[in-house]
Amino acid sequence: MLPEKNHSAVFSGPKNFQIKDLPISKIQHNKVLLKTLSCAVCGYDVRVFNEGHKKVKPPIVLGHEICARTLNTVNLQNHKIIPEDRRVIVSPLIPCLKCPYCITGHYNSCNNLNEIGSSVNGGFADYIDIPQNSILINGIIPITNNICDDEASLIEPLSCCLNAHLNFNIPIRDEFVIIIGDGPIGLIHLQISKLYGAKTIVVGKVPSRLNEAKMIGADMVVLNNDLDESIKTIWDQTYKIGGKLIIVATSNPEAVDLALKVAGKNSLISIFAGISKNKILQIDPNLLHYNQITLTGSFSSTPTVMKNAMDLVHEQKINLRRLITHRFSLDEINKAFVITEEFGGLRAIINSF
Ligand SMILES: [Zn+2]
Ligand SMILES: [Zn+2]
Repeated sequence: MLPEKNHSAVFSGPKNFQIKDLPISKIQHNKVLLKTLSCAVCGYDVRVFNEGHKKVKPPIVLGHEICARTLNTVNLQNHKIIPEDRRVIVSPLIPCLKCPYCITGHYNSCNNLNEIGSSVNGGFADYIDIPQNSILINGIIPITNNICDDEASLIEPLSCCLNAHLNFNIPIRDEFVIIIGDGPIGLIHLQISKLYGAKTIVVGKVPSRLNEAKMIGADMVVLNNDLDESIKTIWDQTYKIGGKLIIVATSNPEAVDLALKVAGKNSLISIFAGISKNKILQIDPNLLHYNQITLTGSFSSTPTVMKNAMDLVHEQKINLRRLITHRFSLDEINKAFVITEEFGGLRAIINSF
């Protein structure tokens, strides 16, 4: 039996959600209709909700960290087969499949990228329609039974963090890695960094989150109340060599300044988080020049990396469950956004629709 209406939180402009029942389009042979099981609230969602975003045109349903169940089967080009009634995670990417980046499989760099939960309706709704190009890149990934719905929704952010680490391409075993940001993304980077054998320092502003970082295995945490003090502590604790890899996992632009000041020679700084709108940074190019520092960024991931991320959770090498601190129904979505914005706990999940 096909559902008739789609209970949805519609982002209708800055700071405005409207809970509405949207019509559901008929199931088509080249699309998959999903029943949402869990959708996590990302820092990006909160930024879009507060400030808007150039790639988001309201009214639209946000939500791109999705665990869902397939409601129909699809057989595209005789090799992309999606079975019915399977629990899956979804890559948010809807690439054009025609541009030079798509042709080489770099779908997250697509020149004409659409994204579920940004430019196409996403997971803060009962049902999600997944278009053909997502299926063609294997963007719908079945999950194993030992992964619960809520943690499955966090495989998407894990996948983005993993993609960043794969891009760095520098060995970090026994090196100092400095993660600036003590939120859920910082704590995922921490787990990956420890998995790769790095000595990992987490810098943050929320004591309860820094405690969690210690429990997860951070070699050191720095409560960043005073920038100069934090910089001195990090240099002392790294025996004056600074970080080999510095990950900026916060949208606070001051973090980039801090990253430059704790970066060691021949190091790499990665801007992982989107930085709040209208913030222009000043960077001293001599710092990069004399210390041979690489300043880079990473965005999203690909379905191949997402499958690898799922395997890490399946093998219990990464623990996403401990990052979930709040659960809400769709009708309570405003509460979930307030808690996320106020750093109350770690990740909030919408899981009853
Ligand atoms: Zn996200
Ligand atoms: Zn493309």
